[in-house]
Amino acid sequence: MQIFTCPFCGPRDEREFHFIAEAGKTRPDTLNQISDEDWAAYLHSHRNEKGHVREIWMHTTCGELFLLERDSVTMEVLGSTALREAGQ
Ligand SMILES: [Zn+2]
Repeated sequence: MQIFTCPFCGPRDEREFHFIAEAGKTRPDTLNQISDEDWAAYLHSHRNEKGHVREIWMHTTCGELFLLERDSVTMEVLGSTALREAGQ
């Protein structure tokens, strides 16, 4: 079991959280036509990097989204920040 820290509720069991997306991923401008391939890449392709990663997670208990920074190799949690403070 891993412990994640919700910026609003504090440390909690990882089973209370849901992965949303990699941080910094820019949604394509849907006002302009984009190809099916580009839209699929936006929805389903992930960088899946090793090491320090920044991800958006939801704490399902309180429903808040936040930025979680962790090491994807060691699984160490490096920090969590409310999205409104992280500028995401
Ligand atoms: Zn919470």
